[in-house]
Amino acid sequence: MDKEITAVRIGVSACLLGQRVRFDGGHKHTPFITDTLGKLFTLVGVCPEVGCGLSTPREAMRLEGDPAAPRLVVISTGEDLTEQMLAYCREKVVELEKEDLCGFIFKKNSPSSGLSNVTVYDGGIPAGFGRGLFADAVVQRFPLLPVVEAEALSDAPLREEFIERVLAYRKK
Ligand code: SF4
Repeated sequence: MDKEITAVRIGVSACLLGQRVRFDGGHKHTPFITDTLGKLFTLVGVCPEVGCGLSTPREAMRLEGDPAAPRLVVISTGEDLTEQMLAYCREKVVELEKEDLCGFIFKKNSPSSGLSNVTVYDGGIPAGFGRGLFADAVVQRFPLLPVVEAEALSDAPLREEFIERVLAYRKK
């Protein structure tokens, strides 16, 4: 194994690594990430919802309002957690600069971690699609960082393309 490659660090939504951080107390362990990519790279788990101070389990949330600037809202109570999450994001992206990440794998459909096409509701009905607040903060802070949703990695060409982008980013 190329030690230089295993030193390459990739951020990953923590639930994909098997960490029980989801709102329902479960995880979304994705063996390809831990068993295959984990042998190639060093994986750095991040759960923004736990990181911003929410408990596990917790009430489910969704994006609401303007799809271009959605708010993070607890579905059952309407509590708006946007500012709490954004405050975390501002600090976390600074911290991630020190992690020297060469890529990030996000969990699809999450109002915090989804990279694209996360449903945004308005008046209780779907009004469009947006990006999870933490994923957006990472993309804004590191615009050239290779990013992908975990589900895309089940497609072999997309998987290879992501790995190539990560290795190319490492060399820059
Ligand atoms: S999708 Fe993101 S916020 Fe939700 S449990 Fe996974 S890491 Fe945490």
